[in-house]
Amino acid sequence: MTNRTPGGDLAALMADLKVLTELESPSTDPVAIQRVMDVIEGWARDLGARTHALGGGTRVFHFGVQPDQAERPILVLTHADTVWPHGTLERMPWREDGDRLYGPGTYDMKAGIVALFHALRALQGEWPRGGVTVLLSPDEEIGSPSSRDHIEQAARAARVALVVEPPVADTHALKTGRKGTGTYTLTFTGVASHAGNKPEEGASAITAAAHATLDLQALARPEAGTTVSVGLIQGGSAVNVIPERATLDIDLRVSSLAEAERLDAAVRAWTPQDPRVTVQVTGGLNRPPFEQGGGTLALYEQARAIAQDLGFDLTHAVVGGGSDGNFTAPIIPTLDGLGAPGDGAHAQHEHVRLDRWPDHVRLLTELLRRV
Ligand SMILES: [Zn+2]
Repeated sequence: MTNRTPGGDLAALMADLKVLTELESPSTDPVAIQRVMDVIEGWARDLGARTHALGGGTRVFHFGVQPDQAERPILVLTHADTVWPHGTLERMPWREDGDRLYGPGTYDMKAGIVALFHALRALQGEWPRGGVTVLLSPDEEIGSPSSRDHIEQAARAARVALVVEPPVADTHALKTGRKGTGTYTLTFTGVASHAGNKPEEGASAITAAAHATLDLQALARPEAGTTVSVGLIQGGSAVNVIPERATLDIDLRVSSLAEAERLDAAVRAWTPQDPRVTVQVTGGLNRPPFEQGGGTLALYEQARAIAQDLGFDLTHAVVGGGSDGNFTAPIIPTLDGLGAPGDGAHAQHEHVRLDRWPDHVRLLTELLRRV
């Protein structure tokens, strides 16, 4: 807690991470998430931050941000929730193994939060122009339903956004673009009938769902970054009944808004061949694409130069998964992947790379100083 060497004290980084990791915080448990947030808010208050609790469980901490200042602050996006249910620590405990540190929610993204606070402490109250606003979301892992408006509002008041989600696994590349993500549910209603006696009186919802699966997946354009996958299919009531009901759940990823609009229109316009089958569409684009813009690449170039000064090479990449950076990128230059290096997000082998972590804390510290 008193570390003053930027990223220099691995033991202190690990101690803080252990505190956050051992407070399990699944997206579905607001009380558990608030417990983690209370610890982080304590760290923020120790640094003199003004703190605010917003509707829905989001918290905002201002470091050196004055109410009527001319310069806009740096916005840093964090989230306190994880994909792991209560009890995960029992089968996936905190464990150090060589240069890897294992535990649920470490890489994504509690180590990113710890890195941020070590960077803020290293600034020793010498905040960058405009100060730093940290936004702590309670529900990033489920698409940020309660925090999205707060994130977009904070972005409109800021000059750049830095996201402390983890860098790309293995390469430790920063993230300068992310696909937009959407999910759709198609519910088919046909006509039930005896499959042996009166099949012609039935209209199969499953047949329609099968056609829709093939037609909609054919809309993918991998070369343009568009992927479409029917991940769930359900239907029918008994083997000898022409099925009246079927549902499809579709996962959609796009690299551009134009592709998002093309896919959305196609999904909504799809109609079954058999007019007796009706289809109802729910869902839509959850996160807009984070398109790699000039402002983001300029931020990345600053980060790369800092890494070079610190003695390591940095690369960047556009990735398929979304983050809250997807909400800020259409508004202000956004650089993502500034958290802790490691691997295994949402997987059993989730871990942080201890050999690489301090370098990335130093990088974040210098970036906050120079941006
Ligand atoms: Zn995350």
